[in-house]
Amino acid sequence: MVGRILIADDVATNRIVLKVKLASAFYDVIQASSGQKTLEIARKERPDLIILDVKMPDMDGVAICEALRNDPLTEHTPIIMIASAHDSRSKLSALRAGADDILFKPFDELILLARVRSLMRAGGSAEELRLRASTCRDLGFAEAQAGFEMPSTIALITAQKDKALRWRSLLQGKVRDRVNILSRNEALQSLSSGRVPDMFIIAGDLEMPDEGLRLLSELKSRTETRYMPVMMILREASRTQAIAALDMGASDVMYDEFDPEELAIRVRTQLKRKRQSDRLRETVQDGLRMAVIDPLTGLYNRRYAIPHLARIQGQAMKTKRSFAVMILDLDRFKSVNDGFGHAAGDEVLTEVSRRIKANLREEDLVARIGGEEFLIAMPDTPLNMARGAAERLRRAIESKPISVNGAAKGLNVTLSIGVAMGDGNSQNVNELMGRADRALFSAKSDGRNQVTVSLTAA
Ligand code: GH3
Ligand code: MG
Ligand code: MG
Repeated sequence: MVGRILIADDVATNRIVLKVKLASAFYDVIQASSGQKTLEIARKERPDLIILDVKMPDMDGVAICEALRNDPLTEHTPIIMIASAHDSRSKLSALRAGADDILFKPFDELILLARVRSLMRAGGSAEELRLRASTCRDLGFAEAQAGFEMPSTIALITAQKDKALRWRSLLQGKVRDRVNILSRNEALQSLSSGRVPDMFIIAGDLEMPDEGLRLLSELKSRTETRYMPVMMILREASRTQAIAALDMGASDVMYDEFDPEELAIRVRTQLKRKRQSDRLRETVQDGLRMAVIDPLTGLYNRRYAIPHLARIQGQAMKTKRSFAVMILDLDRFKSVNDGFGHAAGDEVLTEVSRRIKANLREEDLVARIGGEEFLIAMPDTPLNMARGAAERLRRAIESKPISVNGAAKGLNVTLSIGVAMGDGNSQNVNELMGRADRALFSAKSDGRNQVTVSLTAA
């Protein structure tokens, strides 16, 4: 993907200088010369990033930034603001208005390009996540709710404790989140304990120079912390460290001695973004989960079961151990619906599912593959064990009436089970299911409420 960047500046030579720098990194550049045009073009062209001059003739740059943030079409677009002279007031107001960064002229071209790369990368993955979540919503899966916002936990990692204490005291009162001071080792250990913070603030140099960067790359390589914002605080004007940090996935970079107010604003921005993306990720996960789960019984559905069965088969080929496949079908289930209504039928299906699950191991797959038809796959299971399990399931259903609304004494329900064994030789899972199905058919024609094992290979 070629990144598309909008340069918003009223001075033509400024635009041209920037354009040349960015074009040399093969970005596609578009331009705007006023505040109004910036807003229009940003809406129409949807650039991946905006570089915005603080001073525009018709509008204040900060106001433009705010307007972009308040428009659903541009609210997530990364914005880097450019100011001509260093001025900490405009810096804070730019960051408060939602700018991702602000650079002062003459700015370091390599730092700018590193920022651009970093924001493009983060923007791209956030966009992808929003897209997936919206697909899940289109499929009818609810969005994870925003809910009550708990204070976040920030892990602060420095070489010297007194520095960490000072940084923490600067932050406290400015953010409502908990700041924990950790050593590098404690930070890594805390990951395996499952108590993962919401954000890291790491000094560039720890016990050794650049060790903060190594910790950053460690965190970015781990699943528990891959998506976590990391703010690197570097020695003043450490250009190579800054570029390395951004390219290694730091979400933001600041320099010691920083303005505490600036740190607080940047931290709040990172945490807000983290909460948004956590919520989107939850929506996607819920959506994926619901796509493979049967809502009535909570069991897996056919879509999940068939590929999973193929994986069990693949595993058996490696271990050379047998596995069992069963198809279960409720006997004369139509009469339950006919006699007591569909809702009673649903209650029976739910209770049968519960009993089946309760009588199997964690690693066994149970799926509802049809109206009143279930599939079970038991990895690592010899024939006698499979036969025993099937018999146990049959009894678990037969032994106790199922209570439903509208039937005082409960309903006597039975099921029939067909079993087929897979043996680690390459078999087609469809073939295996076919054998279990034929065994089920025999069980039905031999009088129902029984287990039949298919002993012949197909
Ligand atoms: P057999 O012993 O031969 O399996 O007889 P059966 O009546 O169970 O078989 P049949 O396949 O003729 O009927 C299955 C019934 O299952 C038909 C349908 O009304 C019912 N059924 C399928 N899905 C659901 C469901 O989700 N809820 C309810 N309540 N009933 C369902
Ligand atoms: Mg049936
Ligand atoms: Mg049936």
